[in-house]
Amino acid sequence: MPFSPENLRQVRRRLEEACRRAGRSPESVQLLAVTKTVPVERIQEALQAGLTLFGENYIQEAQLKIETLGQGTWHFIGHLQRNKAKAAVRLFSMIETLDSLSLAIELNRLGLQAEKTLEVLVQINEAGEASKAGLAPEEALRLLEESASWPGLRIRGLMTLPPYDPDPERSRPWFRSLALRQKEWQKQFPQITLEHLSMGMSHDFEVAIEEGATLIRVGTALFGARG
Ligand SMILES: *Cc1c(COP(=O)(O)O)cnc(C)c1O
Repeated sequence: MPFSPENLRQVRRRLEEACRRAGRSPESVQLLAVTKTVPVERIQEALQAGLTLFGENYIQEAQLKIETLGQGTWHFIGHLQRNKAKAAVRLFSMIETLDSLSLAIELNRLGLQAEKTLEVLVQINEAGEASKAGLAPEEALRLLEESASWPGLRIRGLMTLPPYDPDPERSRPWFRSLALRQKEWQKQFPQITLEHLSMGMSHDFEVAIEEGATLIRVGTALFGARG
C-alpha cells in the first residue's frame, strides 16, 4: 500500500484546526511522523509528499532505514538501552526518551566523544505507570539539577506518553500537567531552554496541541494501522 497524501492532508487539517482553537500558529507545532514498522519505500514516498521529521522506536530497524534513505531528520522515541546508545548518538539528532540518570551520563560521554551536542527531551511518566519508561517528576528534577555538568547534552524540553485511552479527553490532564511542569521548571532552571513539549499521538494530538504541544508524534493517522 503506497503512502497516502490524503492522510497527510487530513492530519495537517486537524493540526491547523486545533491551532486555531488554541489561538496558536500552526508553525509552532512540528509534525513528527512515526515510522516504526513502516517499510522504507513508503517513508521515501512520505518524504516526497513533504514530511521531513521522523521518529523510530528501535535502533536496529531505524539504522537500516536512516542509512538507506540518507535524508530526513530523525528522533529516537523508544526506550534506549545503554548498549545501543552509541548507535543512537550517531543516527539521531534528538533522543526524546531520556529516562534515567545513568543514560544521561552515558549520552553525555558519547556526545563529547562524537564532538556533538546531543539534543534530548526528558521523558516523564506522568501517570506513574509501572509498565512504562520515563522519570517520576522528582527524579526528573534531580536530573535537571545535575545537567549543568553535562556539556555533551542539550536538554530541550519534556516528553510524555500517557496511558492509552481511546477518548482523547482522558489524555488532557496528563498533557496539562506536563505543560505546567515545563513552566515551573523553566523558571527554576533559566539556564536550560525547555522549549519543547512532545506529546500527542494519532488519536489525541488535537488535545495535546490545545495544551501546548510543540511536537506531535503521529503514526497510524499517517501510515494506517500497523500490521
Ligand atoms: C508508536 C508511537 C507513537 C505513534 O502512535 P500512533 O498512535 O500510531 O500515532 C507515538 N509515540 C510513541 C512513543 C510511539 O511509540
